Amino acid sequence: MQRGKKIILLSHCILNVNAKVEGFEPYESLVKELTDYLYENKVGIIQLPCPEMAIYGIKRWGHVKDQFNYSFFKKSCEIFLESTVNQLESYLDAGYHIVGCIGVDGSPSCGVNLTCKSSEWKGEMSMKPELSSILADVRMVKEKGVFMEVLEKMLIENNINIPFIGINEENFKESLFEIREFIVNNSK
Ligand code: SF4
Repeated sequence: MQRGKKIILLSHCILNVNAKVEGFEPYESLVKELTDYLYENKVGIIQLPCPEMAIYGIKRWGHVKDQFNYSFFKKSCEIFLESTVNQLESYLDAGYHIVGCIGVDGSPSCGVNLTCKSSEWKGEMSMKPELSSILADVRMVKEKGVFMEVLEKMLIENNINIPFIGINEENFKESLFEIREFIVNNSK
């Protein structure tokens, strides 16, 4: 790929589905189409770290935002993101363009427009007879996930202004269309 002096940030699992909670592997066709499109448009990729993989590993259960919204998780996100923010500063200082950041809607960490929440999703599951009522309490809320909130805060603190978009895991085709529009509209 030629140097296009354009950079985009992608949530880790968009490029490495292995990092996702096991049993949830939705990106089969999206990755190739997205990376081909970025390649053709000379947009370089920074793969963000996966905070859940780093903290909880591959045997983790699925979580909700309420479980990650505490100081150790947020401080860890800051540590994981420090290098990325430093790199963005350097790219911008040298005249490169940051197209934006693509997260994963619905994720408690990387959601952009949507994240999953529940005040009941916690505790010792074997002691809870009503698992179905706990499952029913999980809902999608129009907020960022914790990792994206931390990233946004760090960018603001460093006077870096970039747009965000989330992949809609329920509708890849439409999502890919929106992401292409996002890249076109935010490329110089
Ligand atoms: S934390 Fe983010 S990068 Fe990791 S699996 Fe979840 S959505 Fe993907």
